[in-house]
Amino acid sequence: MNPNEPFRIEFRLETDPDGGSATDPDEAASWGYFRIECGDRNICWHADDNHSADRVHWYLLGLLEWLVGNWDALLHEVRLPRPKAGQGWGEHHSNEQLRSSAREVYSSISVFDLPDAEQEEVEHWWRRHALRAAANGGIFPDLFIRRLRDSIELSWGNVRHAGIPNSLRFVASGGRSFHAVGEFAEELYRAVESVASELQAKSPNSERIATLVRACQALKSQAQDNRLSLLAGLRCGLESLRSAFRDATGEIPSSWFHAGMNPLVIERAPVAVALFGSVSPNIEERDLLQLLGMLRSIETVGPSKPLIDHFQQPDDDIAGPPWEQGYRLALYAREELAVTDRDRVEIEEVLAKLGIRCTSLTLHDTEVRAVALCGQDFSPTIAVNENCVNNASEPGRRFTLAHELCHILFDRDQGVPLAVASGPWAPVDLEKRANAFAAMFLMPEGRLRQWFRRNGTTRFPDDNEIQQFTSDFGVGQVAALRHLENLDLIDQF
Ligand SMILES: [Zn+2]
Repeated sequence: MNPNEPFRIEFRLETDPDGGSATDPDEAASWGYFRIECGDRNICWHADDNHSADRVHWYLLGLLEWLVGNWDALLHEVRLPRPKAGQGWGEHHSNEQLRSSAREVYSSISVFDLPDAEQEEVEHWWRRHALRAAANGGIFPDLFIRRLRDSIELSWGNVRHAGIPNSLRFVASGGRSFHAVGEFAEELYRAVESVASELQAKSPNSERIATLVRACQALKSQAQDNRLSLLAGLRCGLESLRSAFRDATGEIPSSWFHAGMNPLVIERAPVAVALFGSVSPNIEERDLLQLLGMLRSIETVGPSKPLIDHFQQPDDDIAGPPWEQGYRLALYAREELAVTDRDRVEIEEVLAKLGIRCTSLTLHDTEVRAVALCGQDFSPTIAVNENCVNNASEPGRRFTLAHELCHILFDRDQGVPLAVASGPWAPVDLEKRANAFAAMFLMPEGRLRQWFRRNGTTRFPDDNEIQQFTSDFGVGQVAALRHLENLDLIDQF
């Protein structure tokens, strides 16, 4: 994915073709058009049997109010609603939401199969994120806007909608684009603010339009708490968490929740919020307090120069599917660390050599495998969740440590702390890449091919051979077979 496609939105007021007879004066004054471009696609371009247009005409007031009123959610809310654990929704939970676009996830929910309260939650989510929620009788593109990590995701389709003539189609029939958060917010704000002022000049006595202008201006001076909460995506409030931590341990350093300098949007989640954003929204408060406690325990005083700074993401590894990136990064890391081609990588020794601390957590949430943390004010640390079943065996634990090593070495951004909890709610592409890294780091291809030459070639290995293989490399059976399959050394297992 390209995380930084250009985004353009344009509004223009025109004279109401019905001369104000179809609606009230405020709405009538706002007749005009809008046009949205994502990269080189024009989402508003539509056609019917007789004509096509690259813009959508309608009364714009409702749309402007919707954009301003839902600003925080549009630019900060990542997750679709999820009921408490164990209540329905099946595959629509966890990282399924992140792998697919918001529009795809929403379309796959059978709303009418849900209990009333959940139906309502989904409906409210739709009202905050679907452009058609602002259509108010107009024919708007089927577009969804949401935050996805450090990008804004737009996703669109072409679902028929009541009131849209059968012959009319939006040309961009389905897709997804990603945009830099700060640039997106500034472009959207610029466009909304300028058309709202123009509208006010046209209707200086309108209270409704004056309210819109004030609300728009207020976006720049809004408290950031709501935005932080939306980014963290937790069911429990950040404020109650902060006070629980204060009571138990002490004040939370402000930098952990520092929202940055952009008054329109939080461009980067601060460390605590990033960490919370990778765990389940239903995680219990005691787990969150434990995570905060861990952050506190690994804070560093004064500048440190961790050995991991030596590692940079090689430029040519940015592209390609996550598993391919993970393989290449593992080979690079092995080379840099001068890991020999002996059978077993002593992962704990490697971590110690790099100055990465290993510690334990006992989270009530058994889905979190481990947490990786590093950054300017934190010692590079891997905290293994002792309550996750994957870590119960030695091979599983080794795999976890290698997976977290990938996060620490390659998922850091300059000047921004890394905080990620590995599990079903973590960003799915990072998780795939780290899994591929762990496999190739612990089971290098060269050794594998030799091993296979020694033990026969293309046939499926027998149980004894697999056992020998997993004990040679110190890995679990499933991890080993999956890796062999990915390398085309065995057929599907
Ligand atoms: Zn992970």
